[in-house]
Amino acid sequence: MNILFLSKIEPAERWIPGLSQLLPHDRFFTPDSYDPAEIDIALVARPQEGIVAGLPNLKLIQSLWMGVDGLLADATFPRARPLARLVDPGMVAAMTESVVAHVLDYHRHHYVYRAQKLEKKWHRLPQYMAADRTIGILGLGELGTAVAQRLLPFGFGVAGWKRRPAQVPGIDCYSGSAGMQEMLARSQAVVCLLPLTPETRGLLNAAAFALMPEGSCVINVARGAQLVVQDLIAALDAGHLAHAYLDVFDPEPLPADSPLWAHPGVSITPHTAALTEPRTAMARIVENIERVRAGQPALNLVDFGAGY
Ligand code: NDP
Repeated sequence: MNILFLSKIEPAERWIPGLSQLLPHDRFFTPDSYDPAEIDIALVARPQEGIVAGLPNLKLIQSLWMGVDGLLADATFPRARPLARLVDPGMVAAMTESVVAHVLDYHRHHYVYRAQKLEKKWHRLPQYMAADRTIGILGLGELGTAVAQRLLPFGFGVAGWKRRPAQVPGIDCYSGSAGMQEMLARSQAVVCLLPLTPETRGLLNAAAFALMPEGSCVINVARGAQLVVQDLIAALDAGHLAHAYLDVFDPEPLPADSPLWAHPGVSITPHTAALTEPRTAMARIVENIERVRAGQPALNLVDFGAGY
């Protein structure tokens, strides 16, 4: 197989040496020198615009990231070729840790005590048990389901919202817009783990916040464009929402003049909830390449119609 590495972000030297060891009979190329007609597989993470469309004989486009909204935003990106998302166990583990950290920070009032320390203020807030809280997860896919399963042993009530109705043991599952409203109304913490599609853009808005219980929190670790910043700030300023944990922004990096930086009700991380982890991701990439070699469909193929 001839494999072309395409990324303006991921350094080739982070991936090609390890993949070459695992696939010693395949040949790896970078955009400096390759014959477009000879490329069988493209490994992509924010590729140079239009370059994938110029590869006529692709058998697989393998993303190095879990989210593919950036690829699909490029109108030239070929829709007739199979595109596989990366489902990386290291990234899934990192996301569960990040969300559990935010949920516990909120549940144990640590965000309040950090602010009180700055004022040398000694004031205890009422204690809640985990069973007093419901954590609602928007998006119950690879990441949302793993997060939900990590939260269950704490004793939280866990609910999840997805496009296609399903049952997941221990998790109250919702779908449809009435289902989303029902879940938001009972969730003290709402975690967004939806892909960015036309349907999910701007979903975390004033109407959604108004449904959430007084004093609840929002955790957005999916995509910045899913949250309406001015609606969030209004809900925080009104005291309706207690706190927001934001990892993703539109645009990124978050501009210096964004009101989110200085807002006391907002915790910010620089899109680090889960980073691709080559140590665990390479085996998944190799598995997909071997499947293509054996004439089998790759795993985790994107449904272009659904947009994720
Ligand atoms: P999946 O494709 O596995 O899961 C997506 C989930 O969202 C599915 O449950 C799906 O429903 C649901 N969904 C999609 N559209 C809708 C809709 N219109 N209404 C209701 N539910 C919907 O994705 P992952 O879990 O792997 O990743 C989720 C997102 O997390 C990525 O797209 C990416 O944007 C983000 N991400 C963020 C990272 C970070 O560091 N901050 C790192 C990695 C990913 P159904 O199950 O019915 O298909």
